[in-house]
Formats: sequence, C-alpha cells, structure tokens
Amino acid sequence: MNILVTGGAGYIGSHVVEELQKCGYTPIVYDNLSTGHEAAVPEDVQLVEGDIHDVRFATHIMEQFKIDAVIHFAASSLVGESMTNPAKYYFNNVEGSLHLLEAMRGAGVDRIVFSSTAAVYGEPEEVPIKENSKLNPTNVYGRSKLMIEKMLADYDMAYEMRYVALRYFNAAGASPTRDIGEDHNPESHLIPLILKTAQGVRKQVAIFGTDYPTADGTCIRDYIHVCDLARAHVLALEHLLKGGTSRVYNLGSENGFSVRQMMNTAKKVTGVDFTVVEEVRRAGDPAVLIASSEKIREELGWVPTQSDVQNVIATAWKWHKGHPNGY
Ligand code: UDP
Repeated sequence: MNILVTGGAGYIGSHVVEELQKCGYTPIVYDNLSTGHEAAVPEDVQLVEGDIHDVRFATHIMEQFKIDAVIHFAASSLVGESMTNPAKYYFNNVEGSLHLLEAMRGAGVDRIVFSSTAAVYGEPEEVPIKENSKLNPTNVYGRSKLMIEKMLADYDMAYEMRYVALRYFNAAGASPTRDIGEDHNPESHLIPLILKTAQGVRKQVAIFGTDYPTADGTCIRDYIHVCDLARAHVLALEHLLKGGTSRVYNLGSENGFSVRQMMNTAKKVTGVDFTVVEEVRRAGDPAVLIASSEKIREELGWVPTQSDVQNVIATAWKWHKGHPNGY
C-alpha cells in the first residue's frame, strides 16, 4: 500500500517512514524541505519535493502514486514563533491542510492520519489529560492545530473522509536503528538543548522557571519516544484502512518528569556534568502536562515500549554525538 507522508523529511515524519517500511507499506515523502532534511529520507524511499499549498501538484502526485492514505506532518511547529508571526501558522498549518484535503478529495483519497498536539488543551484543568478535556489552546500553534481537527471533523461529516488525529505530548529520542534524529533550527526543545550542552556545542542550558507548584519547582512534562509515536501512526493507519471511524487520541507515556529530573538523568546518561543555569519562567508554559493514553491503548492496542526516560535520552544522545551540527 502506498502512503503519502507530508513532512516526511522532518523529525517525527522520518521516524514514521521507517516504521511504515518495517510494516511493509510503501511511504512516499512529500516535503518542501523548508525545515525537513533530504538526508532524513532513505535512498529507497521516493522523495517528492512539493508544497501542500500546491493543490494541482499534490493531486497529481496522489494519482500518480496511487496513494491509499495520507499521513500529514507538514506544518510550522514553533510555539514562540506562532505568537509573533500568526499569519505564518494560519497560512502553513490551517490553509495548507485545507489545500491538502482538497487535493485528497480531487484524487479520491479519503483516509488521513493527522499530526496534532497536546497544545490544543492549553492549561489543563485535570491531569492526566484525557481526550475529552477542555480544549483551550494558549498559543497560536495549538489553535492552528485545533482548527485543523475541526476541519477534519467537518470533512468527515460532509465527504466521509475518515481521520485519526494524534495529540502528541513531548516527542523525544531518536531511532536506534536508522541514522535519523531531531534537528531544528533554531532549536527550542529541552532534550536537544541539554544534549548540545553536554556535547560542548552550547555553553549552558537554562531551566525556565523554578517556582512552579511542583515537587522541585520546575515544569513537569510527559516525554514520549518518537519510535513509540511512529508505531501509533501505523496502528492509526491500519484502523482507517480496515474501515474504522474517525478518532482522536492522546499519545504520551503517562509519566511526568520535571526539567530538573531531565537534566540530572542526562548528566548520568552522558557522563558529562554540564552547566545548568536558572532563569525566569517562559511565557505560556503550564506547570504540569501528563497524558492519559488509555483510549489508544484500549482501542488500538498501542503499547509504548521505548519511552523509559533513560532510553529516550540515550537514543537522542547517540544521534547528537554523531551529528554535532545536525544533518
Ligand atoms: N525548558 C527549559 N529550558 C529550555 C527549554 C525548555 O527549562 O531551554 C522547559 C520548558 O519550560 C518546558 C519543558 O522544558 O517546561 C519542555 O519544553 P519543550 O520546549 O521541550 O517542549 P514543550 O513542553 O514546550 O512542548
């Protein structure tokens, strides 16, 4: 079966491409390489350099490759940037997804797995966060993803386009088997910043806020290994290919770790006593974000097996050591 992976040259997309190949699917990567990396696409995978805004070209590619379903990652994903440049997020994420859906309709493709985010919840009223918790995103990035979820629900209602939206918590780690990993420019995520500091590429890493109402005063997050995320995408795809109805699922490990705990674990894993400084809170960061992933465990039988936090950091460390300057 042929699966179009938009944004397949990106961090999570490239790991999903690996899992698709392992499971016997043929991924076709559709990426404009604005943030993706050509080197993240294996030689035996077709890379189509294209933009999701280009409806005619995307329709043509879906027809040419006889695409059975789409997995959609192509998006802008920096929370801070989304607040200073909302136009970019509404254009790339919301309008881009609308164009992709129109290309799918044009080509008669009616199944899509969508890369959503825990940012659709905003400040949670309860933890662990369930899928039916209040949706109140506190940043433009989260709002753009929530708008796409609503668009998908409307396309399902009107055009019978079935979807699974996967709301990721903190994606982290790297493939233990392929030479792919996390490389953003600029980098804003905690684990890559910690590891770049351990490597000596950066002088120090900051803790953003030590006065949160948590045991050690720092934010707690739910880190999920990117390979466990990848597995969930294939399960979601198979659910749709079997004729399953549309679904929304959280993807997290259901375990919370504080920023300080992450720094200390990284010191142990890397063996480097890197410099940590304390800074004020970063705007818009909730104190605690932990997923309930019960729904996808029960309905699709998803079992995360690689999200032990030491393993998350160790696999990311292996990637960073081999790629001090990214791809
Ligand atoms: N964080 C930090 N220092 C950094 C980057 C992030 O203390 O240099 C904290 C951030 O405030 C949050 C956690 O680490 O509590 C995870 O942040 P990240 O940006 O990796 O993911 P997010 O939770 O924003 O999706």
